[in-house]
Amino acid sequence: MTNVDAEPAELVCRGGRRPAPDAVEVLEPRDVPLGGIRAMTVRRTLPLRQRSLIGAWCFADHYGPDRVARSGGMDVAPHPHTGLQTVSWLFEGEIEHRDSVGSHARVRPGELNLMTAGRGISHSEVSTPDTDVLHGVQLWVALPEPARALPPAFEHVVPETLADGDLRGRVFIGSWLGLTSPATVHSPLLGAELVLAPGAAVELPLDAGFEHGVLVDSGDVTVHGRPLGRAALAYLPPGTATVRLTAGAAAARVVVLGGEPLDEEIVMWWNFIGRSHDEVVEFRREWQEEIAAVAAGEPPATRFGRVMGYPGGPLPAPVMPATRLKPRPRPRG
Ligand code: MN
Repeated sequence: MTNVDAEPAELVCRGGRRPAPDAVEVLEPRDVPLGGIRAMTVRRTLPLRQRSLIGAWCFADHYGPDRVARSGGMDVAPHPHTGLQTVSWLFEGEIEHRDSVGSHARVRPGELNLMTAGRGISHSEVSTPDTDVLHGVQLWVALPEPARALPPAFEHVVPETLADGDLRGRVFIGSWLGLTSPATVHSPLLGAELVLAPGAAVELPLDAGFEHGVLVDSGDVTVHGRPLGRAALAYLPPGTATVRLTAGAAAARVVVLGGEPLDEEIVMWWNFIGRSHDEVVEFRREWQEEIAAVAAGEPPATRFGRVMGYPGGPLPAPVMPATRLKPRPRPRG
């Protein structure tokens, strides 16, 4: 998905404050309306002011369940990315994906679509006509040096499932609970969906070298005894050896994100990740050049290539803020 902010801020993201192991820091979601005629709103927990990274996870939007008849569904025209991977994970509905490396794929519940932008890619996403309800998460992974210079790629992965008593799970990135995803990542990382039966209480081992986030989709969930609302994210610092989860009277679903703290400072603006303001300015300039080439009927001219088969033109980049970004003070602890 595209970053839907009409006036996205430029952000410097780096590893944050480290609370004591076993502490739970709750990140409350921020509503971001899609705008325009569409009523769909996403709930964002990364990046937030107080925390912008969990491992290399740098963006987390939760959306739905939204009735497409009311919200208009998803129709995102071709737009660019750099320096990141997009992780599309659905609970309900179906999305048609097209990209500039020639992929044409469906995103379906329980199946991972992983797009590696590397040095540059463009793609479109449209909910399919058969979709009544859209419900899922859109996640981004920042690519470390030197992987951010890799050529773009696309993978579709159907992860194995776990069914163990009160717990069902799918590990779509990394290895956990005896499951391993074949998805290609470039830093130590975990992404998983867990479903707890009504009344379930589980304690699961974690990689203590990772920091983790538990993002609540549905149900009355507690993490280490702390109740969490829908789309809230519980942050667990490195050194945490287990996670304790409970479900209330209904079944509960969470997405668990984890990774080794990213030891790099990244600059995020709109759909680009770079290492400096000037680099992001150059990405934007190239994308606008590609749009001009489309309008002139010329062949692909830039790192972003062309999306074929989307019925419409590419999405222009917003205007960059006039002020240069100011790095945030380095958090302590
Ligand atoms: Mn996108």
